[in-house]
Order: sequence, then structure tokens, then C-alpha cells
Amino acid sequence: MSTTTAAPAQTHCPYCALQCGMALTPAGEPHAAPDGRAPLPVTVSPRDFPTNAGGLCQKGWTSASVLTVPDRVTTPLLRGDDGELAPASWDDALDVVAAGVRRVQAAHGPDGVAVFGGGGLTNEKAYALGKFARTVLRTSLIDYNGRFCMSSAAAAGNRAFGADRGMPFPLTDLGGAQAVLLLGSNPAETMPPFVQHLAGAREAGGLVVVDPRRSATARLADDGQGIHVQPVPGTDMVVLLALTHVVVAEGLVDRAFADERTAGHDDVVRSVSAWWPERAETVCGVPAETLRRVARRLAAASPARGGRGAYVLTGRGVEQSAQGTATVTAAINLALLLGLVGRPGSGYGCLTGQGNGQGGREHGQKSDQLPGYRKIDDPAARAHVAAVWGVEESTIPGPGLPAVALLGALGTPGGPQALFVHGSNVLVSAPNADLVRERLAALDLLVVCDFVPSETALMADVVLPVTQWAEEEGTMTSLEGRVIRRRQAVAAPGQARSELWILAELARRLGSDVAFPTEPAVVFDELARASRGGIADYSGLSHARLDAHEEAGGTGLYWPCPAPGTDGAEHPGTPRMFLDGFPTPDGRARLVPVDHAGPTDDVRGDAPTYLVTGRVLQHYQSGAQTRRVPELDRLVPEPYVEIHPFLGLRVGVADGDRVRVTSARGAVEAVARWTDVVRPEVVFMPFHWSGPGSVNRITSDAVDPISSMPEFKVCAVRVEPVTTT
Ligand code: SF4
Repeated sequence: MSTTTAAPAQTHCPYCALQCGMALTPAGEPHAAPDGRAPLPVTVSPRDFPTNAGGLCQKGWTSASVLTVPDRVTTPLLRGDDGELAPASWDDALDVVAAGVRRVQAAHGPDGVAVFGGGGLTNEKAYALGKFARTVLRTSLIDYNGRFCMSSAAAAGNRAFGADRGMPFPLTDLGGAQAVLLLGSNPAETMPPFVQHLAGAREAGGLVVVDPRRSATARLADDGQGIHVQPVPGTDMVVLLALTHVVVAEGLVDRAFADERTAGHDDVVRSVSAWWPERAETVCGVPAETLRRVARRLAAASPARGGRGAYVLTGRGVEQSAQGTATVTAAINLALLLGLVGRPGSGYGCLTGQGNGQGGREHGQKSDQLPGYRKIDDPAARAHVAAVWGVEESTIPGPGLPAVALLGALGTPGGPQALFVHGSNVLVSAPNADLVRERLAALDLLVVCDFVPSETALMADVVLPVTQWAEEEGTMTSLEGRVIRRRQAVAAPGQARSELWILAELARRLGSDVAFPTEPAVVFDELARASRGGIADYSGLSHARLDAHEEAGGTGLYWPCPAPGTDGAEHPGTPRMFLDGFPTPDGRARLVPVDHAGPTDDVRGDAPTYLVTGRVLQHYQSGAQTRRVPELDRLVPEPYVEIHPFLGLRVGVADGDRVRVTSARGAVEAVARWTDVVRPEVVFMPFHWSGPGSVNRITSDAVDPISSMPEFKVCAVRVEPVTTT
């Protein structure tokens, strides 16, 4: 047997936005895989990349298994007259899709067809998908699952700073901080290598974790190296208002910064005047003295008071709320009043979750945006992008509907009757998922591009098999706005093809004369041109430049990175944004007054307990990939309900019992785990599964009025034992 010596592909993990560096060595000899599984085609080893510094989590270490899952989709599948999905040729499958699009649009117009994208798609695919929707389908109806992930932070960031880059500073800057206020995020489980960047704050006793659950991350703060703030679910805003009140009342505001670099200071000061800590304590349940201690510790770390620096970071726990934009705004207000933003060594940032959660929102998958992270109703942006696409500006539709409204309109009179889904498993990841199932079932045509038969793919009329991660070239953009290369290590199995090829083939079949290149480097060049002059300006980047940069020891380049000016010099990229001002009309950041409203679906007599949801270390998002990895599935094979023993005793649910959790939308069942990591009035469920314990079947689809983010993170439920007859 011959042994090949192919060089390892220097690439990144397929999962989360940390985009840990890894090397994939193609297997020369077939690897002996555990459990009699197919041999793994590559060996994964960590690389010393800034975000992970040589570390990987369990998901990253086992990621090669996803390449060879036994039920990998390797041929197109068509639903036959018998109702079953059966293999078909690419020609037949694409002809069926094109005929379906023509049929639906003839009857219902361009918006009869909708598109739902994903935050895991490469930048090139995200760009091509937005272009396909708007130039070939000419539909306004495109949005993506990033709406569920980052939209509140994006809306708040755009409003306050004039730009939204999750972290407008390199992640490694965190290491020097004296204090980090982490709100609604559990990186110790969701992105474990991130935790090493908190070491400086922990050593200084300055890690503050705000979470209604004593999560793995909260425990890092609990052990004398910080403070765990454990509010009642849905009251994070109150915590922030009280912290801001203390900063104002105790004269801890950085007045020079506020005067020179912000607008709206007085309005925000007035808005927090009534949120003294004792009042806040009655709402959020956090002792007033703890709130004072946190505010003082943050202020002491600020540059204005001679500290080493402080960061305020938000995650889904505070963002996935019907007041998500307002809550993130409150976090930004606090950071601005302390003078933390736009300064080296301090800042505000959002921990984006999905692998390309940052890049996925920049290139035109969002219902209201065009490439370059520009508004679709901005005439100048429309004209620029139309010229790159080679279409009339007037033919670009939009804005369309955000994700929850789009999914809710499917199959309704006047709504879209056909849907393309790319890189998303909405039957597990969308809120009120039973309603989503009903809407998908009402469609005339459902087309799903995926590499595994996800729950959503299994409902499709047509499933198109696509390449994944280690089988493709492209770029991703990490949570810090760092543009990095994804590199191919192995050939795709069977007939799997890139979405770039699929979109080009469909464009041709639908009679479009718009060009759809299929080479990722060529698509990137076009994306870069389309982004020129936008907030997320990639015009100075190319695959070749990123490759050369890396060969010279670089680790990716940050946007904005404009094309060379008249002097011909390459722009170095922008690791730290806002140092010289904010991209707002007057160069100042906006302080915006906000107030507490509470959860839309609040506790009441028949639903007296709060349900919060989240992730576990072993699984990623809807679990479509990680549930298929035996090592991960064995560790956490099914959903569960964390319940405080006090609540368990009160409702008659013992540790290990099956428990029913009922909200206004329905009921789910899972095994109870007694634990004191949750407050007695709270239960917690992870959301990675389908079936009877699929918690998003009962989460709320109420949305934030600004960002359209659903209120995943808190709703009212009744908890009771499952009785068998
Ligand atoms: Fe992959 Fe995220 Fe784990 Fe890193 S932390 S190995 S990027 S899943």
C-alpha cells in the first residue's frame, strides 16, 4: 500500500466563530477508525493561531468525523410519488428545482420564492447566495440564521458606533485587561480556548460573569477570581442600568472621553437616575452591594482611573431577547461612560457564535443589506453593487422580511410558496419550531442544500449534496473581523458540489445572464469589489494576498481593508477600530437611553417558572453535525432539564425523572437533572436536538422591534412530572 505525503492543509475549525487554527493531514494509510467506522480521511492537529494558541475543544478535535458520517448526502435526492426521497442525477434535480421556481413565480411573482441562508457559509457562498436571490430570483425575501445569533448586537453596534464588528479589537487584547464584564455568554463550554484570554482579568479578580445560571464560565469567576452575578432571567437590563447608575452617582464617568467622543451623555445619565442598586435588587435579585462592587471594579480597571483596561462583552444570553438591542445598548452605554471604547486595551465586543457569524452578515444574506455591510435602501450602495453585478439598480429588490417573519409567512396566502435553505436546520434552531414545521409543510417547493440529512432536509422536495469545510476553498471572518483562509484537504465524496456551482447552474437554467463564477478566489475578488466603500470593506484583500500574508507568518487581515490608494500601498487592515473616531456623521459614538421592559412571555399562575436555553460543550447549534460524531454523542446523547432541588421537590420531579416543560406554544419532555447551578425559579435546557425534547418547539418567537431577534432565552413554563398510565 502506498503512503502519500501530502502537506497538511493550514485551515480552521468548521464550527464556531473562534475559528481555531488547525492543520489537516490527509491520511496516507487508511486510518483505523474507532467503532468500525469509515476511516477518517484527515488527521486533525491544532495550530498555534492567536484565537486558540494551540488549543482545540472536543468538537474541533473530532471534526474529521463529520466528513465520513454514515448518512452523508452524496447524491441529489428527489422526493418521489411514493413520498420518499430517492437518489437522482444532478441534471434531473436541478431541472426540477428550476421548473419549480418558474411555476411558483409565474403564479405568485418573484417573492413567491424565498431564501434562507446560514452563518456557517463561507464569505464567498454568502455573497453568491445574496446575489443569486436578488439578481436571478429577484426576490426580496432572503434572510438567514444569523438573525438568531447576532442581530441585536449588530443593531446596537451600528446605532452606537456606526459599524458592527463583533470585536473591534484583536481577541488577544483581552489578555492584558484588568477587568472583563461578560454578559450572557458561556465560552468555557461554547468556545473553551477563549477562556485563556480571560487569564489576566481573573488574576486581577476582575472577571465578572452575568448569567442566571452558574455556568462553567460563571464558576471561573466564582472561585475568588471575580464575581458571578446571577440575576432573575430577563433582567440583565436592570443589572446594566444599576451599574451605570453607580458609575454616574459615584463620579466614575470618564468625562473627558464622554465630552470629546460621545453624544447623548446627559440623556443616559437621566435615564439611569432611578435605578439605584436597592431598587434594582428588588427586580433582578442581585444584592445591591454586589452591583456596587462590580461597578467600582470595572471603573478601577478603566484607563481614566489608571487601570490596565476593561472590556464589556455580550453574548446570546442578553441578546436573544425582545429587548436585545436595548440591552446591548445599555452595555455599550456603560462602556462608553467608562471611556472604554476606541482605546487600545479596553472596549466593547460581542461574542459571535456561528463559524462565519461575522462574515455571514456582511455580504448580502441579510434581508436589509447589500455586500459591504451596506443598507439595501441606500441609493449609493444600490448603484455601486448593481454595477458590480451588471444589473440595473432598479431591479434589485428589497428590503425583505427578517427570519422569523419570513418563516412565518411560508405557504400562507400572499406569502412565499417555495424556499431554498442553505446551511441551516430551522426545524431545530428556529423558535416555536412546531409552527415552522407547519409552514414548511405548506410549501409547494422546499429545496435544501446540506451535507447531512438534517431534520429540515428530510422535509425537502429536493436535497442537494454540498461540500463542507475540509473539502473546499474559501474565506471566513472570525468574531474579531479577521479574514482568514479555509483550505481544502480532501476531495468531496460522491457527487457533492459547492453551492457556488449549484447557484451558477441554477442561474443558467433560469435564463439569467448574470455571471456566477464558481472559483472561490474569483468570487472573492468580486465580493471585494462589491464591498468597496462599505463599512466592511474587503477591497484590499484577495485569496492571493491572504495566502502570501500567511506564508510570511501573518494570521489573517482585519477589515476594513480598502484597496490601495493613489500611492499604491497596500492597506494593512484594521485590527483596532474607532481609535481615531467613530464612523458616524460627527465622528462621535451615540449614547442612547434605554429602559427595562421585562420578558414578553413573563411568568404567571399557569406558567410560574422561567425557562432559559443554551449550549453544551459537546454540541454545536442544531446538533446536525455533532450529534453524528459518536465521541460527542456518547457524552451528551439527549436533551435534559436542569432543575433546582427546591423546585424539583415542589413539583414532584426527582433527579432522573422524566419531566414535562410546557409553555404557551406546547410541551417538551426530557430527563430531569437536579442541580443548584440554576436559580430555584429557573429551569435550563440545551437546544441541540429534535424530537420530544427539542426545546425550541416551546421557545418564544416574540422578536426585538429593532433587530427582529427572537426571544429565545427566556419564556414562562410549567414544570411537572411525566406520569405513565
Ligand atoms: Fe472549533 Fe470553536 Fe471548539 Fe475552537 S472553540 S475547536 S473553533 S468549536
